[in-house]
Amino acid sequence: MSPLNPTTVRYVFVTGGVTSSLGKGIISASLAKLLQARGYRVTIQKLDPYINVDPGTLNPYEHGECFVTNDGAETDLDLGHYERFLGVPTSQANNVTTGRIYQTVINREREGAYLGKTVQVIPHITDEIKRRIKLLGETGEYDIVITEIGGTVGDIESLPYIESVRQLIWEMGSSNTAVIHLTLLPYLSTTGELKTKPTQHSVKMLLEYGIQPDVLVCRTEKPMTNDLRRKIALFCNVNINAVIESIDASTIYEVPLLMLKEQLDKVVLNKLKLALKQEPDMQAWKDFLGKLKNPVHEVRIGLVGKYIELKDAYKSIAEAFIHAGVANECRVKLEWIHSEKIDAEHVRAQLAELHGVLVAPGFGERGIEGKITAIRFARENKVPFLGICLGMQCAVVEFARHVLGYADAHSSEMNPGSAHPVIDMMAEQKEITNKGGTMRLGEYACSVHKGTRAFQAYGKTRINERHRHRFEFNGKYQDAFEQAGMVASGHNPDNGLVEIVELKNHPWFVGVQFHPEYKSTVLNPHPLFVRFVKATLDRASGHISEIRSGESAASSMV
Ligand code: GLN
Repeated sequence: MSPLNPTTVRYVFVTGGVTSSLGKGIISASLAKLLQARGYRVTIQKLDPYINVDPGTLNPYEHGECFVTNDGAETDLDLGHYERFLGVPTSQANNVTTGRIYQTVINREREGAYLGKTVQVIPHITDEIKRRIKLLGETGEYDIVITEIGGTVGDIESLPYIESVRQLIWEMGSSNTAVIHLTLLPYLSTTGELKTKPTQHSVKMLLEYGIQPDVLVCRTEKPMTNDLRRKIALFCNVNINAVIESIDASTIYEVPLLMLKEQLDKVVLNKLKLALKQEPDMQAWKDFLGKLKNPVHEVRIGLVGKYIELKDAYKSIAEAFIHAGVANECRVKLEWIHSEKIDAEHVRAQLAELHGVLVAPGFGERGIEGKITAIRFARENKVPFLGICLGMQCAVVEFARHVLGYADAHSSEMNPGSAHPVIDMMAEQKEITNKGGTMRLGEYACSVHKGTRAFQAYGKTRINERHRHRFEFNGKYQDAFEQAGMVASGHNPDNGLVEIVELKNHPWFVGVQFHPEYKSTVLNPHPLFVRFVKATLDRASGHISEIRSGESAASSMV
């Protein structure tokens, strides 16, 4: 092995055993947070073993929300956790799927890069996996790259990834790498015991593939005794202090502090032969957690969407409400409301008790009329409202129908024949037929106009927000909308597209074409969510806030 170069980037691999959904993403993000708090520059990458090139074409019921990065990558929702914990943006390089790996190799084969050779899983696919893992380290921006391998050890589709990790450990040297294996200790209530056998078996399987884990993070619902830790350490061949308890937590935001107590960061740094540097400064995080657990106020907000059966479909929105709730010292109780179940006859009973309504992003016709009905109720009854992407588009359609009197107004996504296509396909989208990665994606600038709710929230006139859509506010109608009281409070400075709309005569009614939820983090809650929650609090306490021209509210935000 080559001698240790102190500037070498270190690689931490996180694998999972026994069962899926153990929370590898949260453990990876928590470890990264602690290493960051010690002064290291850290990023996290997720390798997904499915054949879709990215999750952009997956139904949210399949895989939860599709997270969008600044550079316009449609990615796994775990990247949202990474950003929310670290406060550092991720990119296309942070999420790689088997589909993308094969696509690259097959394209290269067609170009003739392997002329004369048989293209095989080993070495060509594994080489491409290794290249993708090293890519983030090669940017020079990070000291430590944490790579999370999706799936469970033993899955057929994870095999090339596990083999690539084995090769990288050999190539980079053991002290430049660490393997964390996440397992489950099932609790048998009949005997009152935590069982270690599934953990032993999953470690044995990793060993069969040539990988000895350095750290075992054991998910458990009961505390582990020292005897149990010793037993796991002995049978799995790891140090006893590298057997880490990961007990069920009441919130994911507690996990970094639990991992700090278990010294996961120290164990990993010792393995990587890196200095511990300072004790992690987690004060701001602890303050956040303290407020999260001890709210002063409570509001109820309806989240109207059509994928509510799977809460992960709206992950970033739900998390943004947690952040914004804390900023207002307020618990936000989300009422998940299925848009297909809302109708004019029952809407009052369905929404009247709420302090605010959010209409969620989405695609297609299903549930649209329910969303429009909910928006009409919020507009007419002065209930604070935030519409995101499709939610904003529905607010525009609702206003066109019921205020401007265009009875058949619609988005041309739902009704291409409408005489009033107030939401229409962008010109550059009209020629596109491919579905994958072809929307308006990623970060675009927006000019925010003074004297608006949007400006009050952001406190500045230039913002950047992330997009994921094909349709837009139809600029032909802007004058008619403005005259009737729905104003454009944000525009794209380059092409004039309307990015934010809001109502003049309403306590707080804002629709955004972009996705603010992707940018909300624990220590930087998103200003629109913070202001929206504040408006719901005002409603709950019967207080209507005033807006003054040129007012800056951002300074009062966490
Ligand atoms: N379906 C709408 C569009 O493509 C909205 C997309 C969304 O809500 N993300 O424009």
